[in-house]
Amino acid sequence: MPRFPPLPASPQPQRLKWGSIKEEVGLSRDDNCTLLEIDQQLPGFHRFIGSWLYTGDINLIVDVGPANSAQSLIHTLIDLDIDRIDYVLLTHIHLDHAGGLSQFLEHFPMARVVCYDRGIKHLLEPSSLWEGSRKALGEIAEGYGPPEPVKGEFFVPHTEAHIDGLQVIETPGHAIHHLSFTYRGNLFVGEAGGNYYSLKDTDYLRPATPPRFFMEVFVNSVDKLLALEDQHICYAHFGDATSSKQMLRRFRTQVLRWKDLIRGEVTVGSDAIVERCVQRLLEKDLDLKAFSLMDTDTQAREKYFLSNSVKGYIGFLQKGNAIFTSPSILGSSTH
Ligand SMILES: [Zn+2]
Repeated sequence: MPRFPPLPASPQPQRLKWGSIKEEVGLSRDDNCTLLEIDQQLPGFHRFIGSWLYTGDINLIVDVGPANSAQSLIHTLIDLDIDRIDYVLLTHIHLDHAGGLSQFLEHFPMARVVCYDRGIKHLLEPSSLWEGSRKALGEIAEGYGPPEPVKGEFFVPHTEAHIDGLQVIETPGHAIHHLSFTYRGNLFVGEAGGNYYSLKDTDYLRPATPPRFFMEVFVNSVDKLLALEDQHICYAHFGDATSSKQMLRRFRTQVLRWKDLIRGEVTVGSDAIVERCVQRLLEKDLDLKAFSLMDTDTQAREKYFLSNSVKGYIGFLQKGNAIFTSPSILGSSTH
């Protein structure tokens, strides 16, 4: 993992307008649904973390990004004249999705936060989430910044989120406490459908399967999403596509392909196993083709997360699904 330079005290807020956001990001199936980039100060972490904003009868935002960039997201919303957010939908509690929640709610105190019920306590008192993340991610966690405690009154447990038009789907896999949401023809898939980018018209699709990875649980969640009607699919990292079924089918095939490729390397021996697996995946998996088009910093970021995902697979191949019955909610490495 590259060493990252010290971070500036407060990241510069983005100044964007609707038109420029849509032009810049090239997204949005309709006028209601927009991806807001939450740019990071970490090298290679551009166009990586985003919040999906849905505006209409009610305004929703899906994930709020890390603590250190919370002000940037708030300024983007101010620039867009968004003065009301009704609900924050959290796909999961990892730092890069929920770390900025406390600051966000200071600015939008009317918002209520839909969160996986068992995840809420880690946001009320985030010290173990922070310590676990620092251990798993090191300098990346420092770059995201420590989450501040959030008051309990803001939360709506996911099992009690009865919002007109909203479907909440438990999709454990990337994290045990992972949720996906559908709202008015949009599937907000978090990381349950992998990470998806399009670079120079070339796709890049990567499983986000950090240890502990329970493959059957992960694939079951993909199948749950595949059973939904075909719709616009919105990824947390970092883009969208018009057909959820097409993307999720492709992703499911990739997840199984990785198992075969990684198992092949594991049977060869344990020397430099993670590096060998990453190399083999980059050579053999056409869904990773756009890796060669990335700049050096982005490649370094992706190599780090590819390695994390490979480690998840190796653990699964060695240990299987056997102990899934009671994994720690903080048990997986964060993104
Ligand atoms: Zn993430």
